[in-house]
Amino acid sequence: MRTGIHLSISGGFQKTLQLAEELQCTTLQVFVRNPRSWKAGTFDKEGAIFAKEQSPQKGINPWVVHVSYLINPCSPDKDIYEKSLHALEIEVSRAILLGAEFFVMHPGNHKNTTVPRSIWRLQKTLDYLMNKFPDIVFLLENTAGSGTSLGGSFNELAQAINMFPQENVCLCFDTCHALAGGYDIRSSHGWSTTLKEIDNEMDTKRLKLLHVNDSLAPLGSGIDRHTHLGEGHIGQSGFKAMLEEPLLRNLPMILETPGDPKVEGSRNLNFLKEFAGVKK
Ligand SMILES: [Zn+2]
Ligand SMILES: [Zn+2]
Repeated sequence: MRTGIHLSISGGFQKTLQLAEELQCTTLQVFVRNPRSWKAGTFDKEGAIFAKEQSPQKGINPWVVHVSYLINPCSPDKDIYEKSLHALEIEVSRAILLGAEFFVMHPGNHKNTTVPRSIWRLQKTLDYLMNKFPDIVFLLENTAGSGTSLGGSFNELAQAINMFPQENVCLCFDTCHALAGGYDIRSSHGWSTTLKEIDNEMDTKRLKLLHVNDSLAPLGSGIDRHTHLGEGHIGQSGFKAMLEEPLLRNLPMILETPGDPKVEGSRNLNFLKEFAGVKK
């Protein structure tokens, strides 16, 4: 079982690694820029190379980089599309310096256009990225499906994913987004129905990573609000059922829950390990 947290790198990679060790993380996710700005800012290249070198002995595998929030890889607006592509190139280059195995992307927003057109644009973006960066796997993350966000259904995600080789484009499953998007993962039955739906849409080997978050908002609400495991609408039973699925249990799991990693983060990690029956 591989578990970790989304951590900040703002204090430098050495600090991030120290904290990961304290929390006994075996996988990590980070942003490689300020996630709420178009400014790429500076990046600690030496720190990233150091982290890459240290990772095997610290037992951190895989490293995951999460895309910044302003990027819209399917925007019909030429200016935003080009800005997004440029920002993606910078972020993926940084992820590669770090030795990240996965780059998690949100499928984007289809405002002012149709779903088929935005899927086509997303495919164009992915095609460009995978040709330029063949050594990293791009993971499209399911969304809560609110408003005009693309990727609230596995059908939409599959349309973008299936045209690419498995070595290049795969799926990241976020539990909070799935519940808010209408997938009832509160029980074993709900999980098996959801997994069957994924299986109908794509090879389940494409499922590479879990974002493990409970949901403050109820089933099908379309509202993306992460909370602590067992304290939201997925609840203890939902996560217990998740950990009973061999396919899911063997995936790397990243927490994106709120609060201090040392306090709430550590508590959520322990929750996962206890429910999985893995001794601390
Ligand atoms: Zn995300
Ligand atoms: Zn997520």
